[in-house]
Amino acid sequence: MNIILIGPPGAGKGTQAKRLVTERGMVQLSTGDMLRAARTSGTEMGLRVAEVMERGELVTDEIVIGLIEEKLRELDAPGVIFDGFPRTLAQAEALGTLLSGMGQDVDAVIELRVDDEALVDRITGRFTCGDCGEVYHDRTRPTAKPGVCDACGSSNLQRRADDTEDALRRRLMEYYKQTSPLLGYYFAHGKLSGVDAMAAMGAVAAEIAARMDAA
Ligand code: AMP
Repeated sequence: MNIILIGPPGAGKGTQAKRLVTERGMVQLSTGDMLRAARTSGTEMGLRVAEVMERGELVTDEIVIGLIEEKLRELDAPGVIFDGFPRTLAQAEALGTLLSGMGQDVDAVIELRVDDEALVDRITGRFTCGDCGEVYHDRTRPTAKPGVCDACGSSNLQRRADDTEDALRRRLMEYYKQTSPLLGYYFAHGKLSGVDAMAAMGAVAAEIAARMDAA
């Protein structure tokens, strides 16, 4: 089963995708994570995308479609969760073509609905463990011991360079200009459903599971 989680930055796509990986053995394909890995590896492409990402703008369709294509070809999993992809209509069409070439389809598109006002707080308080990927928040989910990851004990806690208020405004603008038209696109394809992503993490996960089981 292939599902797409769609929503503005800070809606909880990554957190919910990680849950589905643990609970259902699915594979999370996050273009944001792939681009951050490319940036860290210092490849030419990584250097090219670093500035764009830091500003909160979108990387070109060509680059992200290439990354997804490469990953999809090497995958052997019972299902894929697309997290942060597609973000433009061109990406959505390319994904449809790639999947149909593999005899597959997008089975469900789940929109995580949030209040925009809540996003600034969610994003600017966010930090993650650079070693195991666990996600924390200064106010709502601090680590038990300051500076140490609860999950793996690492002290490699990091904040994303684009998790600032300025970059978030630009990321939101990109979301409404380029990504939100996908809601209409997938609705017209009969794939879209929405969940209240302002609810507690467990309740959101239960809603997503219900939507997936109904798809
Ligand atoms: P994310 O981790 O999904 O919030 O993505 C972080 C940043 O990576 C975005 O603000 C974009 O600069 C870039 N990015 C991630 N996914 C895509 C995509 N599908 N298309 C274009 N840019 C992307």
